Amino acid sequence: MFVTVDRELCAATGGCAQLCPDVFSIGADGIVVVTQASPDESLRPLVLDAADLCPTAAISVEH
Ligand code: SF4
Repeated sequence: MFVTVDRELCAATGGCAQLCPDVFSIGADGIVVVTQASPDESLRPLVLDAADLCPTAAISVEH
């Protein structure tokens, strides 16, 4: 699994960081940062939920 975020699209809601703080955090500028681009498979459900719930579809998950 490979996680990326389009920081241009992120609306700084903080939702993904709340849902899955092991993978997403909020940067100093308020925009999300991916802290683990290849997280453990056990985090897949949370990562996929975060991607689904992101209001601007800024989160992409490959594989
Ligand atoms: S849920 Fe989407 S818009 Fe909200 S902080 Fe995460 S990437 Fe940004």
